[in-house]
Amino acid sequence: MELYVHLPFCRRKCRYCDFASFPGLDARMEPYVDALLREADFFAGDASEPIDTVYFGGGTPSLLPPSLLSRLISGLKSRLPMEQVREWTAEANPGTLTDPWLEAARRSGVNRLSLGMQAAQAPLLETLGRIHRMDQVRESVGMARAAGFRNLNLDLMFGLPEQSMADWRETVEEALALSPEHISAYGLIPEEGTPLFRDLEAGRLTLPQAETERDMYNLLLLTLKNRGYAQYEISNFARPGFACRHNIGYWRQVPYLGLGLSAASMVRIRTGPEGTRYTRRTNGTDMDAYLAGIAQNAPNLSEQSEIGPAEARFETMMLGLRMNEGVRDNFFEAMHRRSLESCYGVRLRALEARGLVTYVNQPGAWRLTRLGMDLQNQVLVDLMDE
Ligand code: SF4
Repeated sequence: MELYVHLPFCRRKCRYCDFASFPGLDARMEPYVDALLREADFFAGDASEPIDTVYFGGGTPSLLPPSLLSRLISGLKSRLPMEQVREWTAEANPGTLTDPWLEAARRSGVNRLSLGMQAAQAPLLETLGRIHRMDQVRESVGMARAAGFRNLNLDLMFGLPEQSMADWRETVEEALALSPEHISAYGLIPEEGTPLFRDLEAGRLTLPQAETERDMYNLLLLTLKNRGYAQYEISNFARPGFACRHNIGYWRQVPYLGLGLSAASMVRIRTGPEGTRYTRRTNGTDMDAYLAGIAQNAPNLSEQSEIGPAEARFETMMLGLRMNEGVRDNFFEAMHRRSLESCYGVRLRALEARGLVTYVNQPGAWRLTRLGMDLQNQVLVDLMDE
């Protein structure tokens, strides 16, 4: 199974961000880490299988003081079955990394870093409200390499307000010049309620045309392919052997335990004639309510429900089609005790006729076509009701 730990502290709130992340709460770091460990105690029974991957996300995990990071990690290890962790990622933001933090992370077992580069141009980083500049990305990568990290991801964003194709080309080239093992690239989705969304609504900023955004994605696909990065999911690319196990596990519906604000868990409850059944629960996003709930052994949840069979089957399609390997017949049947053909065959063939999905005989899997990747939402809407 997988473990996700949310660390919601940031130096400044980015202008597009709607994650559970807060500036100015450094005084809460210590009680928050205590609460995470109590939460791990509370839900330790859900970790019924060895943990294979760990992901520290945020927020900005690299803001945690090194001694607190070490205490958190050793506390988690003493509570959860973490003897067989193979991949341990921590998100880190340029401009916040320090040698002592890197040293503490390495010594505690973190073996993969994910750096939020986003863009190479200062004006675009300014528009996004990021605290860093490109030279700090270069510096962070140098520090991470010097500390012994051999598995680095760079996060990039395209479709940004006022971003040109030339900007995007330069961003991709700047990222490649740093020789990361992995690149993630996401199109910006303006989230309601954020300052960036308000600027767009008011016409103070303009997004690139949809066609330009598609061209940006195509440029990414072509450039990364030519430079030895295999695409394994719509937004994720890796050199051989460096695909992110944690994310793949999520797309393959490996159960996960999530700790901290806004963290979600998907826990296996039984395997029966209807296949494997899970419950999902999600923590709330309010810091005070989280700390108070944990102190009273009553975690503050925003959602808890059993995932019904139809919903579970749809999730297999929704998550599996994101990956280049697609959804395999035998995987679907093992999960749900029903054939993929009986659940989705008619709809998939209709989508195939429109050029959106394709069936690969060997190994027997449905995949999105290139057009299907562009129109993924349309595919999912068509699959929604089996
Ligand atoms: S660093 Fe990440 S989590 Fe923090 S405010 Fe920016 S986008 Fe949000």
